[in-house]
Amino acid sequence: MSDAAKPRIGFIGLGNMGTPMSRRLAEAGFSVTGTDLAEENRARLAHAGGTAVETAVQVAAASDVLVLMLPNSSIVESVLIDDGVAAALSASAVIVDMSSSEPLRTRALAERLAAEGLARLVDAPVSGGVGGAEKGTLTIMAGGDAAVVESLSPIFSVLGRVRHTGAVGSGHALKALNNLLSATHLLATSEAMVAGQEFGLDPETMLEVFNSSSGRSGSTENKWPNFVLTGRYDSGFGLGLMLKDMRIATQLAEDIERPSLLGNSAVELWTKAAADLDVAADHTEIARWAGHKDKG
Ligand code: NAD
Repeated sequence: MSDAAKPRIGFIGLGNMGTPMSRRLAEAGFSVTGTDLAEENRARLAHAGGTAVETAVQVAAASDVLVLMLPNSSIVESVLIDDGVAAALSASAVIVDMSSSEPLRTRALAERLAAEGLARLVDAPVSGGVGGAEKGTLTIMAGGDAAVVESLSPIFSVLGRVRHTGAVGSGHALKALNNLLSATHLLATSEAMVAGQEFGLDPETMLEVFNSSSGRSGSTENKWPNFVLTGRYDSGFGLGLMLKDMRIATQLAEDIERPSLLGNSAVELWTKAAADLDVAADHTEIARWAGHKDKG
């Protein structure tokens, strides 16, 4: 695709994920205009070759495709509706909510936009963390009209691999369920690692064996070796955001009358951890909360 044929991209939310994602798009030759509440984040986009502006409505005016990478559904709705961003977009524009939002609210928002003749909405949350955002290896779960999702492939291919998950809201549902699994096995792994070390097992040996056995998961393959045993706890995904996703998933299970008993217990434990740890804690600090002691 020549640069002239590329859609102009607007980007709202330039945090841990939005910064590397918008940088990759600018480096791939897209015109990227973005904003964030934090001035330092706007400066990072300008440094990466994008155009930083102060308000979300200014972003809308420069967007054929508007990407949102915001903390939650309430903020997505307030930016699109209360701040007048949806009304400021052209009717042919596409809004891509890549945040981890609430599926039923996403569906309602899409219906509202359609009823008002405004831009179409696709939900396209991601998995793969800050590292995946930097490398362009995210898993993108896209919900919405198949042809609209297909039209976004030049953008998605810069960020990772896309999977069309079904109607609008389905990406957000799948993302929340993924993170409920992820958080549950991270806590389970942490408990097992603490017990094993207390027994006298070497943590590296434990992970090596788990990773060639049935206890294997993203927690044993990635989170524990890279963020816990190194003592770095810097995955770039906050504990509060993980808990938000877990609650979206357990609420979804309640709504469809298939309550998740293990999921509800995991939410209860993560809620206790959130109360005990610093509000800005990385989600991998759940390992410390479960009793892991850093070396030295
Ligand atoms: P973050 O807190 O680092 O970034 C969110 C950004 O949104 C912040 O920079 C904040 O200033 C900005 N913001 C908030 N309200 C705004 C507004 N009204 N207008 C403009 N900017 C506003 O969060 P993150 O880690 O980048 O996560 C973003 C989304 O992606 C969340 O929904 C999260 O659950 C999801 N997610 C995060 C990760 C990860 O590893 N960090 C992975 C997958 C999905």
